[in-house]
Parts: sequence; structure tokens; C-alpha cells
Amino acid sequence: MLSTMQDTPLLTSRILEHGRIVHGAATVTTWTGDGDPHVRTYREAGDRAAQLAHALRDVLRIERGDRVATLMWNNAEHLEAYLAVPAMGAVLHTLNLRLPAGQLTFIVNHAADRVILVNGSLLPLLAPLLPHLEPVEHLVVVGPGDRSLLDGCRPAVHEYEELLAGRPTAYPWPELDEREAAAMCYTSGTTGDPKGVVYSHRSVYLHSLQVTTKESMGLDAHDRTLPVVPMFHVNAWGLPHAAFMAGVSMIMPDRFLQPAPLAEMIETLRPTHAAAVPTIWQALLAELTARPRDVSSLRQVTIGGSACPPALMKAFDEQLGVRLCHAWGMTETSPLGTVAQPPAGVNEEEEWAYRLTQGRFPASVEARLIGPDGSVMPWDGTSAGELEVRGPWITGAYFGGAGAEPERPEDKFSPDGWLRTGDVGVISPDGYLTLTDRAKDVIKSGGEWISSVDLENHLMAHPDVTEAAVVAVPDDRWGERPLATVVLRSGAAPDYPALRDFLEGRVAHWQVPERWAVLESVPKTSVGKFDKKVIRKSYADGELD
Ligand code: ADP
Repeated sequence: MLSTMQDTPLLTSRILEHGRIVHGAATVTTWTGDGDPHVRTYREAGDRAAQLAHALRDVLRIERGDRVATLMWNNAEHLEAYLAVPAMGAVLHTLNLRLPAGQLTFIVNHAADRVILVNGSLLPLLAPLLPHLEPVEHLVVVGPGDRSLLDGCRPAVHEYEELLAGRPTAYPWPELDEREAAAMCYTSGTTGDPKGVVYSHRSVYLHSLQVTTKESMGLDAHDRTLPVVPMFHVNAWGLPHAAFMAGVSMIMPDRFLQPAPLAEMIETLRPTHAAAVPTIWQALLAELTARPRDVSSLRQVTIGGSACPPALMKAFDEQLGVRLCHAWGMTETSPLGTVAQPPAGVNEEEEWAYRLTQGRFPASVEARLIGPDGSVMPWDGTSAGELEVRGPWITGAYFGGAGAEPERPEDKFSPDGWLRTGDVGVISPDGYLTLTDRAKDVIKSGGEWISSVDLENHLMAHPDVTEAAVVAVPDDRWGERPLATVVLRSGAAPDYPALRDFLEGRVAHWQVPERWAVLESVPKTSVGKFDKKVIRKSYADGELD
């Protein structure tokens, strides 16, 4: 028997119209770096999104399913593109501006982007690639920048503000199938070519509902969120659509992502929530320790993308009174997987233990652990396995290219369709996930596994260590052994025996690394995570002996 319920498709245009009208007074504020942030209401952003849709349809001839890319910082205009492009039936493709040129070129061609909206300040990055970007017909330049870099280029060049000017502020948003593509994002390609994940209207809508719940980021119209996480890094973790849906005002850092302007932004614009990867918070902590600022407006900070070192979480709690809330996710999971909100009825010590896990899954994300022999492991807090997930905002395939079938590589999807995350961990009986490693980062020493994350967390708790990254290196006797690379506090001298002593008693004796190296800084990926691939290569090339 079917229900009596209406079958209204879950479309992003509904988020747009709801935010524009019901939350029309909420604001998106863009930091300009000159002490005079730019403020726009959601009413205005919604109106301008309609104008952009008109321009894309009538001038640039964008049709349903066409890919419209953005190469932009987090700012109000990027939000307008987020709203307009999917709502009109096209597909928003956010480009990661930190990718190497070769990967960026690959991604634009693979997605067959017809248009790129680009911030003027990023033209030096884009202009040299243009001869290699076959499918791109139009460039829309947003904000200040040197236009002469585009002289003689093949795609037609348009000015964003000129395109919008005078167009209607209402648009007949089409009734799409909710399973149609709304947006796409490529993984940052830590191994091999980047892979395209395509989000649907339905997945964006449901994910947005989840983002604002108390068990996730707990945001409502009283909040101001500061997504430091770029809008090209898994849709700024879902914040733009969620914020528009719930009337959460947004503070956009634009290109001012260094610790000093971030600290000033927080003090001046007083966000109640912020989101970024651990390396950003680590740098901000150092800045705030050196030059204290008032960051008391921050009620909660969502931290994820890589494991949050416990020492960092404690330092934010104790020194700044700011609560870091740990979350896990991937490009493939939209990205909300788990969030570490502790359960009710626990004491302070237990609460800490829960906060340090990756968190628990919402009802829409089903999880299972697959052990080394391929069997499903129990949720007992000790049995480790590779995490597999499924649910309405988890991808079931990768984009195969324009006109091609989606791809379902065996190492990424189980035969029964679950996503193989490549993350290894345990799940407690009450559903909290603790990751011990990425499958490819686990150190297999003499038939036993050593968690690189565990060693890093202990090392980063040492007063002389600001960053630590541990990788597996080949070893004649044990197969693999850990190599610990550390970045030292300025003025500290390397004292490996002392660091070894520090680890003794904190981890099993046989896990303590015998190979060490000091780095100026840990190499980072395009989304600010430790790039262990680079460290492994430096070691193989004999640069770290
Ligand atoms: P990439 O795979 O290119 O780094 P993603 O941003 O999609 O790009 O990365 C997802 C991966 O990041 C996860 O599979 C996991 O390994 C790691 N990750 C994300 N959040 C956390 C977290 N809170 N703790 C540990 N690892 C995390």
C-alpha cells in the first residue's frame, strides 16, 4: 500500500526560495581585508541568484544538465552561484584552486565545464590553463583582478556584475527530478586521477536538513557561521545550502585565510560557529597565543577532514573556552558522516572520551566494518575493520565523463553497493566511530598494525612539537616501521631520545619509532591535510636520513 503523502521533489530551488523570503533578513558578509566587510541580505542574494540564472540561460545559453564551474574563494557571489546554478537545472562544479595545474585541467575537461565563474584575483592561475580547457566557452569574472591576462583568450569573457544588471529578480525555477545532478566535486586525488562525485537535489536537500540538527552542527537563525573550509572542499561541508535553508547568517573569509586575518574576522564579526580542517585551527591557536583576541563569540567549531589531535581540542577548551567538535566525512559522503556530540548522561571524563572519537552516524548513514578476512566486524569498540557506508547522501559511483556510464571501481564499492571508505577503525556498541588510520597509512610492522594517527596524537601533545606526521617505511626485518617526522616549536632543539621516552608508556614499546626526522613544516595537500605521500617520497629519495 502506498502512502497518502504528496510527492514534492526535494529541490534546491525550494531552499533558495525559502531562504530568500522567510530568512530574507539573514546576511552573508564577505571579508574584504580593508576593514569594511561587504554585507548582503539573503533576500538580495536570492534576487541576484535569479538574475544570474537569467544571464546563464539567456546570454550564455546554459541548459539543463550543463556544467557551470566556479574557481572562487568563499564569498557572497560564490553563494549566489551555489543557489542559481542547481536551481535552474544546471550542475555546479566547484574547482579546487589549490590543485596542481595538470589536475585542474583534467577535471575541467573531464566534467566538460561550459562556463567558469572566476574571481579576478585567481586569473593568474586560470589564464595559463585556458588553451588546454577545450569545453570552456565562457568566463565570467567576479571582483577585482587583472583582466588583461585574458587578452586574446578563446572563451568569451563576461563581467559578473554587468551580466546580472537589470535582469529580473524572479526566475521560473523548473520542477526537476530530485535525483538529477545539482553539484559536483572531485576528490583531491591523493592517489591517481581525481574522481568526480555528483550530488543530487535530493542528497543536497536531505544533507542540509541534517547539517543544522543539534546532533550535527546545531545551527539556526540565531547563528552566524564562518566556513573557513573552502566552498570547493565538499561544498564547504554543506554549510551554504544548510545556512540558506535555516537562516543562518554567513561570514565569508574570501581569500583571507591566514591566521591573523581570521583572528581579526572572528573578533570583529563575532561568528557563533566556524568550520575548518585541523591545520587551520592549529595555526590559529599559535596566532591567538602570540596575539590574544576576543574569540568568545564562538559557541562551537566543527573540525574534520583529518583527525583532530586531542592536544589541540584541549588547548581550545582550556586556553580559549572554545569547543571543537570533531566530525568525519569525505567528498563521497557529501560530506557529513559522523559528528562527535557526546551522548546524554555522561560525566566530564566520559564526555572527553566521546569528543575525541570521530563521532556517531546520523540515522541516514548506515555503517559497517569489514575485517581483514572480509567478514562484518561487531561494534564492540575493539574489533577493527575498513569502514563501509551507505545512505541517501553517499555516492554510489563516480562520474564517468560526459556521456559515459558512471564508474564503480571494485576497490571503492562493495559488490552490494556500499562505499568503501579506505578508513580503518572501530565502532563502540553505542555507535561512535574511532578511526585508527587510512588503510594506506596503516603501518604493518611484523604482522601487527601500528596506528600512525595514534603516534601523531601523542607526539603533538609534547610541548616541543607543533606538528607530527608518521609514515610507514620499508624495513628488512619487520616489513614496515614507522618514521616519525616532527615540526618543532621555534627555539627547540631536536632531542629524539627525549621524544622516544615521551612515547614509552603511552604506546606499546614495539611501536615506538626508531627513525626520526625534523621538518620545517609538514607538507600539506590541496585541502590542508598532511600529505604523507610527499614524506614517503622524500624518505625514499634519501632526503630525510
Ligand atoms: P581526500 O580523500 O582527497 O583527502 P576528502 O576530503 O574527501 O579528500 O577526504 C576524506 C578522508 O579524510 C576520509 O576518508 C578520512 O581518511 C579523512 N578524514 C576526514 N575527516 C576525518 C576525521 N575527523 N578524522 C580522521 N580522518 C578524517
